[in-house]
Amino acid sequence: MQEDLLFNRKNGWEDLSEKEMEEIFKFSDEYIYFLNKSKTEREAVVFVKEMLENNGFRDIEVKQTLSKGDKVYFINREKSIYAAVIGNDLIEKGLNIIGGHIDSPRLDLKPNPLYEDTGFAYLKTHYYGGIKKYQWTAIPLAIHGVFVKANGEKIHVNIGEEENDPIFTITDLLPHLANEQMEKKLKVAIEGENLNLLIGSIPNKQQEEKETIKFNIMKLLNEKYGIKQRDFVSSEIEIVPAFKAKSLGFDKSMIAGYGQDDRVCSYTLIRAILDLQNSEKTAVCILSDKEEIGSMGNTGMESQAFDMFISEILNKLGINKPNLLEKIFFNSKMLSADVDAGLDPIYANVSEKNNASLLGHGIVLNKYTGARGKAGASDANAEYVAQIRNIFESENIPYQVSEMGKIDIGGGGTIAYILANKGIEVIDCGVPVLSMHSPYEVTSKFDVYCSYKAYKAFYNK
Ligand code: MN
Ligand code: MN
Repeated sequence: MQEDLLFNRKNGWEDLSEKEMEEIFKFSDEYIYFLNKSKTEREAVVFVKEMLENNGFRDIEVKQTLSKGDKVYFINREKSIYAAVIGNDLIEKGLNIIGGHIDSPRLDLKPNPLYEDTGFAYLKTHYYGGIKKYQWTAIPLAIHGVFVKANGEKIHVNIGEEENDPIFTITDLLPHLANEQMEKKLKVAIEGENLNLLIGSIPNKQQEEKETIKFNIMKLLNEKYGIKQRDFVSSEIEIVPAFKAKSLGFDKSMIAGYGQDDRVCSYTLIRAILDLQNSEKTAVCILSDKEEIGSMGNTGMESQAFDMFISEILNKLGINKPNLLEKIFFNSKMLSADVDAGLDPIYANVSEKNNASLLGHGIVLNKYTGARGKAGASDANAEYVAQIRNIFESENIPYQVSEMGKIDIGGGGTIAYILANKGIEVIDCGVPVLSMHSPYEVTSKFDVYCSYKAYKAFYNK
């Protein structure tokens, strides 16, 4: 009676069978592998494209026509990717969409980053997304990204991941001399202009001029990659943690790794769409870029590129007509697959515990996000929340509800509102994370597996 009447959350690990445990740990190993291979949005696109290709998905560009059961994808400028499985049902009845993002907070290089100072060469960075700057000092960092030369030639760079690669770091002040720094507010104690990556210290022997260390670094880069200093202007180089994602805890129940916001939801939703066979509704997935800086830009969710992909599907189904796209969107349902701030017992005072997600307790529904009185939230309709609940309850998928922190403590947003603006029913639904936006974010393997099962159940409805 009590169990029936009350909404109690349960620790998901409590009554799992041996077989379920095995599945969870196997799935998590595969996810950890993905994390280690996909530290930037471009790398995630490459990885996901291969997963899709290996499972029968084809670039929509190579398909002349589409019909039921076809699987297609579209890559938007190497930084975001959309995929679809054409369902049996009339597409006018709407799509089942799940969307996450594959960009993560990090340090980008400035357009003219290389300089030398008192015996060291550095690269200047400009942080991307919401970071706590002090977390990026005194840790091993890797350099990932692309240089595009003026003639269009593209050079991929990935240094700091292999065992024999060097790593890079940003130095911090020794405590002995940090009295003044330690008195400062955390927010300003490490300044953005001081997040300078240490990259070398050997001067060039043949050269008598100044800045010979910088010159030596440029010589090395030229030998290895064929680039000149000017090529930094047209580069996208991201500085990310060099350490690897790993199982966390004596019981290995958790995962620590960089970029789990939001590659955890991105990976699990891709795994879900790969499993789809004969779905009624057309299933669509979105892996977006630029979420961490407001979803702007032509690879962000605010761009028209996603609409173009759906229009292209309608064209190739041979059914496109005026206003059909708008009508389809109006009839569509979406899970905005993004992470939630899990309750951290050490910082429990920022959460309201009845409305905060707990690690190991299943997938999280955020009816709304936003800040200061839900501002900026799309706020899912009760009728739609009921439909999603019904899917999870009928499939026995553990779920919890959450809002991001106590009222007026802060807040956040996702891509949900952008899709809601098109008329789509949207709710945020993802994995709870500790240390979000830090170089080493924490998730529970139980929740990771739950999100895969939840996304799969959604696609099958
Ligand atoms: Mn996110
Ligand atoms: Mn984020």
